[in-house]
Amino acid sequence: MLEVKGLEAWYGESHILHGVGLEIRSGEVVTLLGRNGAGKTTTLRAIMGLVGRRTGSIRFDGREVIGARSDQIARAGIGYCPEERGIFASLTVTENLLLPPVVQPGGLDLDTIYALFPNLKERANSPGTKLSGGEQQMLAIARILRTGAKLLLLDEPSEGLAPVIVQQIGRTIRELKQRGFTVLLVEQNFRFAQTVADRHYVMEHGQVVDTVANADLAASMDRLHEYLGV
Ligand code: ATP
Repeated sequence: MLEVKGLEAWYGESHILHGVGLEIRSGEVVTLLGRNGAGKTTTLRAIMGLVGRRTGSIRFDGREVIGARSDQIARAGIGYCPEERGIFASLTVTENLLLPPVVQPGGLDLDTIYALFPNLKERANSPGTKLSGGEQQMLAIARILRTGAKLLLLDEPSEGLAPVIVQQIGRTIRELKQRGFTVLLVEQNFRFAQTVADRHYVMEHGQVVDTVANADLAASMDRLHEYLGV
């Protein structure tokens, strides 16, 4: 579904990504692991066309999108959920959900979304400001499901959340996989990554340096230790 080859990216003069390569098959949940500053967020932003300059190849559903604008990439069916979540504080939960345009057929309707996220249903008329961190994260994910995006890019969905909420987010991601969504997520929380993903890529210094199937993760800990410091 997504094939990234030789991806280089810059913020101004800073050359951040140095030939990132990765592949995600339809229906997979894949993480990007790595220390702070390894280039995980920049990889998601580069896929979305949100960096200053990028070169290389990004094929999505067989189409080259390296030259496309971020709105065209969103319309092609990639949904991006940034680390800061981007909830509009003055809008209610429902208004936030209805805000992004539907870009592709097959998006979930509001009833289905509320069935998936019962907490959000209870808060349907609450403004964004009144939501907990976990509710904001749920809303940020829920919002892209309506658009029809098939590939979801999630930046550290577990960040700053209590363990019980992290478990809830994990259940949500597994449910999305069952519904046929494909997910690429950035994670620092190793345990969480292990509970949701089929496969992991490890990044260091702006490159993908390793890949490991989730089933082999425990056996690969020694090898991964030097990259991740876990
Ligand atoms: P983190 O979890 O800390 O976000 P990361 O692996 O996601 O880590 P990135 O955020 O992709 O790392 O950052 C990679 C490098 O790019 C870092 O050296 C960072 O300082 C630099 N960087 C990130 N954003 C910008 C920006 N807007 N302008 C210039 N440099 C940036």
